[in-house]
Amino acid sequence: MEVKFSVLEHIRKEVENIKPKFEFKCKDMEEFEEWRKGLKSKLLELLRIDIKKDYPLEAEVIERVDCKSYIREKIFFKSFDGFLVPAYILIPKKLKKKNKALLCLHGHGRGKVDVCGIYKNEKEKQQYIKPLNYDYGHQFAEKGYVVLAPDGRCFGETTPYGEHCSWMFTAFLLIGKIMVGLRILDGIRALDYLQSREEIDRDRIGCIGLSWGGTFTLYLSAIDERIKAACISGYFDNFKDMLIERGCCPCQYIPDIYLYADIPDIAGLIAPRPLLIEYGENDPLYTYSEVMKALKKIKKIYKFLKASQNLHIDIFKGAHQFSGRKAFIFFEKYL
Ligand SMILES: [Zn+2]
Repeated sequence: MEVKFSVLEHIRKEVENIKPKFEFKCKDMEEFEEWRKGLKSKLLELLRIDIKKDYPLEAEVIERVDCKSYIREKIFFKSFDGFLVPAYILIPKKLKKKNKALLCLHGHGRGKVDVCGIYKNEKEKQQYIKPLNYDYGHQFAEKGYVVLAPDGRCFGETTPYGEHCSWMFTAFLLIGKIMVGLRILDGIRALDYLQSREEIDRDRIGCIGLSWGGTFTLYLSAIDERIKAACISGYFDNFKDMLIERGCCPCQYIPDIYLYADIPDIAGLIAPRPLLIEYGENDPLYTYSEVMKALKKIKKIYKFLKASQNLHIDIFKGAHQFSGRKAFIFFEKYL
C-alpha cells in the first residue's frame, strides 16, 4: 500500500538531511578543544539552566534508619531555582576518613526508593526491583560506597499531587524551562551536596544510572567534570532510533538538540574520563544495529584521545536492566 500522508515518513526525510553541527570529526587537538568548548556551551544554552555561584544548599537531614551495613539518611537540599530536592544518602558503617561516593540515579518509576532497594513487601520487590536489578544504590552501599540517590523531578516524593513528568514537561515549556535542564540543575546540586559532606573525598565521585537515570548520567557527566567515572546503563543509541522511531516520554527531549549533536557526541564530552556503557541486547527500547553504530562513534572519540582503555562496554544477554557484570570492577578501579 502506498503511504502518502505519513508524518513519520515526513520527519524521517527531514532528519536524513540534518547534519548536527557538533558531530565529532576532529582531526587534531586544536579542533577538539574548540569542538568540546562549543558543544558544552551549546548544551548549557539548550538546557536553559542558570548555575549560580555560592548559592546556599540549605541541606537538612530529616530521618536516620539503620540498614545493617549502612545508615540511610533522608535529606533534602536546595536546587538553583529554589526547588527542594529530597534524597537518600547511604553511609556505610565501616568508614575511612575520606570515602568514595556514587551518585545513583533512577529511571522512570517510583524514584529513589528503587535504587535504594526499599520495598514494603516481597511482592513490591518482585514487581519493581528484581526485574531491573534496580537496587544498585543499595548494592554499592553494601560494598562501601557512600551513595546519594535523589528523587528526579516528577518522581517519588516530588509528585504529591500525581503530577507526572509529561504533564510537568509541558507545563514548564510555558515558562521557557526544559525538564532535562531542571533535573541537571538538581544533579549539579547533588554533587555540591556530596562535596559538602565531610565523610566524602571530593575527588572520588562517580555517577551511575539506568534508563532515564542513564540519560541523566550522560548529560550530567558531560557537563560536570567533578564526576570522575560514569556508568550509563540502558541508554545508548542515536536520537533517531530512540526518540523519533519510537515515541518516548517527552521529559527527556531537549528542543533543537539534534541540530547540534547526537548521543555519542554528547557522551564524547565525558572523554577521556572513564566511562562504562551497559546495553542489554534484548532491550526493546533500542535497535541492536543502531546501538552498535552509536558505540562505534564513541569508541572513535576515545581512540582519538588515546584513551580507549578508559571506555568499557558491557553488552549482556538481558533487556532493560542494570547488568553490574563490569560496573563493580569499573568503579573499584577508577574511584
Ligand atoms: Zn518522563
